[in-house]
Amino acid sequence: MTCPNQFKIIKDSLPLGVSLLAVSKGHHQESIRKLSSYGQLDFGESRLQDAIPKKIDLNDLKQLRWHFVGTLQKNKVRRVIQEFDFIHSVDSLPLLERISRISEEEQKTPSIFLQVKFRDDPNKGGLLKQDLLKSWSKIISFSNINLLGLMTIPPIALNSYERKELFCECRRLANHLELKDCSMGMSNDWQEAIEGGASWIRLGSLLFGKRQT
Ligand SMILES: *Cc1c(COP(=O)(O)O)cnc(C)c1O
Repeated sequence: MTCPNQFKIIKDSLPLGVSLLAVSKGHHQESIRKLSSYGQLDFGESRLQDAIPKKIDLNDLKQLRWHFVGTLQKNKVRRVIQEFDFIHSVDSLPLLERISRISEEEQKTPSIFLQVKFRDDPNKGGLLKQDLLKSWSKIISFSNINLLGLMTIPPIALNSYERKELFCECRRLANHLELKDCSMGMSNDWQEAIEGGASWIRLGSLLFGKRQT
């Protein structure tokens, strides 16, 4: 179920400079088609094998931009680079290195967000801030990488105030590294994320309803 009214309300409320990624994982391609008819161009998927049949079905919509937001396994890197324009979930240096190498082979330059983990969270991956800083000169030396910014997901247990604090930390780190973008905020915390300095919010259930799979 796509909610066009909800989509319009959210879209019209976004401050200048905040982009909306519609995370369509778990939803049918017809929901994507419908939302695209309201002007949404950016769609996010978290599983390659689910995204491919949708992309084939939607192949007539050449204007769509595809974002990978899920955990990226080593053996899926080449296909993800071939199929997606953006990767929000680059959570380690070896993964970035691999993306760079394969992108060069594929003659692609994907737009990349480095996923950063600002709090202990056994359920989530991500680079630690100190490791990111330590490896920074190496990170920016990789070819065929369009490094846009940082991505983060707060641990589930945080309250609204703590989430906003975490989002602000992410924005400060991005600014320090002179990165433009912060991909942060989902259906339950997108307003805090915008207050904290998000430039991309990633909404699934708020736009599409409860996931079907
Ligand atoms: C599923 C998912 C979203 C969207 O989640 P909702 O809570 O449904 O808005 C955003 N980002 C990532 C990385 C996801 O996996």
